[in-house]
Amino acid sequence: MTTNQPDTHTIGTDEIDLGALRDRYAAERERRIRPEGSGQYRRAAGEFGYYAKDPYTPLVERQPLTDRVEVLVIGGGFGGLVTGARLRQAGVESIRMMDEAGDFGGTWYWNRYPGVRCDIESYVYMPLLEEVGTIPGWRYAPGDEIREHAVAIAERFDLYRDTAFQTRVTGLTWNEDAAEWVVETDRGDRMRARFVVTSSGTLTTPKLPGIPGIETFRGHTFHTSRWDYAYTGGDAAGGLEGLADKRVAVVGTGATGLQVIPHLGRDAGSLVVFQRTPSTVDVRDNRPTDPEWAASLRPGWQRERQDNFLAVISGEAHDVDLVGDGWTSVPQLQRAMITGRVDPDLSPEERELADEMLDARKMTAIRARVDELVDDPATAQALKPWYRYMCKRPGFSDEYLQTFNRPNVTLVDTADHGGITRMTETGVIVGDTEYEVDCVVFATGFEVGVSGVLSGTLPVAGRGGATLLEAWGRGPETLHGFYTHGFPNLFHLGSLQNANSVNFVHILQDQAEHIAAVIGAARAAGARMVEPTKEAQAEWGRIVRTTAIDNATFQAECTPGYYNAEGRGRPNTSSYGPGPVAFHDVLQEWRRTSLDDVLVGVAGQATT
Ligand code: NDP
Repeated sequence: MTTNQPDTHTIGTDEIDLGALRDRYAAERERRIRPEGSGQYRRAAGEFGYYAKDPYTPLVERQPLTDRVEVLVIGGGFGGLVTGARLRQAGVESIRMMDEAGDFGGTWYWNRYPGVRCDIESYVYMPLLEEVGTIPGWRYAPGDEIREHAVAIAERFDLYRDTAFQTRVTGLTWNEDAAEWVVETDRGDRMRARFVVTSSGTLTTPKLPGIPGIETFRGHTFHTSRWDYAYTGGDAAGGLEGLADKRVAVVGTGATGLQVIPHLGRDAGSLVVFQRTPSTVDVRDNRPTDPEWAASLRPGWQRERQDNFLAVISGEAHDVDLVGDGWTSVPQLQRAMITGRVDPDLSPEERELADEMLDARKMTAIRARVDELVDDPATAQALKPWYRYMCKRPGFSDEYLQTFNRPNVTLVDTADHGGITRMTETGVIVGDTEYEVDCVVFATGFEVGVSGVLSGTLPVAGRGGATLLEAWGRGPETLHGFYTHGFPNLFHLGSLQNANSVNFVHILQDQAEHIAAVIGAARAAGARMVEPTKEAQAEWGRIVRTTAIDNATFQAECTPGYYNAEGRGRPNTSSYGPGPVAFHDVLQEWRRTSLDDVLVGVAGQATT
């Protein structure tokens, strides 16, 4: 059979009227679009800074640091941890891990809300399982277990030595004479580091809706990423007995809302869920790890499973789907957001039509599941998502939809009002209706910071005092996303001009291993600096631009959310178009043939 023709017959056989569906999606998008775009949110800072305060670890006083380390790693999440681990394995003794949090774990340090779990299979999500010698207890592990694993990595690789927690970098300044970075922090530190690696995360600063009157509410309130167990009682496994006599409201029904709402429904006296856009809620099928399966695993199993998962979801050729879950069943649909291999036999129009049909079938099944599981027809109607599958982070739960069958749980659809209208001293108003509550939980997500440099939270002054923000004024300029000419010995982890995937920890792991290899090579060669040439970074920028798959139309038609800058279209942050597997191959080949090009000041090397 030729693959050149779009399979238009399926339109009739599925009884999906694509034209009508497009109209419905456009109308639903229109209901939710807000003219302020991302400006509708408030950062949990300043007046709202208490929403971002660390409820887990009391502040520990310490003397300012004035010493020098060989490598400073900014960020104690999995990206930083794997970097630290690989550097330790490469023989680097002097490593300082630094984080604003009170311990390791990154997002898993902060997000401890009831029900928190990873939504990617933990056997491929949690890094270094074999090195640490552990197997997660669940297919989708609870947050506590993931955080404990982060701590275990730090212990296994001796990364607690020299840590600086509860510390935010306020400035990095390059000293050319000493070939080192001067690092200033909000704890008064002025230390030095030969190499600096930044892995500061993408969804870190909690955000709140800019609801008029939010500051007037006199009840209790907090953000899901700073859960107040002193008020709710219980722990991440549930048992929130402090809420038994409380009227609770939750704002937000994204990936976090899906996990936390079943617990609030179970334990609160009453619960009102304020929804603006329903998530897709597919089958989760979580289960404890089968001990026989765990015992059958052979060395190298995790890398094999991770690589297989990445290949399957990136549309690469594969013989077997080892994970076999909701992510791997629809790799073509993820292509709309996360680039990967495409079928070269199809024209872009044919491919788009085929993807759209597949998307329509998937979303029809997702909507049918709502009808199956939710008793009240009006509630079921409101819980149905009307947009294309990857417009938002896909959701999975076997408890969420059923929560709306409980007599103490009410769903309030705020879409026609663009969200909550107002808050008062005693409650929440949508349209003309006030809901009096004792407590409001904000499950309203995070500011998207693709890079601390671009967001301005990590001010960097390189050679000659030039700032990295200025150097990136017309968009990031890097080699492979990692480093920039004029800013030697500084490495960035993240998706910028690099790779991306829904299993982002895998990407971070590959990045960490690459950076450790480059630093290892610099040390072995006795290089004074690691720095790409202007030409190499310009060429990489060209490759990223020319290979980027154009999903601007897809995003422009999507319901608003942080994926499409609240409906405004694609943020200017391309990843490598051919996808993460191809990117990994690029890096491997580069390490084999061209790594020496970034080593500057090697003894005997000609200077330019
Ligand atoms: P999201 O940004 O995905 O969701 C925020 C929610 O708040 C949305 O439902 C949004 O509605 C709603 N909201 C915002 N403003 C208003 C308003 N004014 N009135 C009513 N509702 C409002 O944040 P999450 O914390 O849920 O998830 C963020 C990301 O974190 C995920 O995409 C995922 O990448 C990650 N995550 C991963 C998890 C895992 O691995 N297990 C678990 C949780 C999160 P609307 O959609 O209309 O904007």
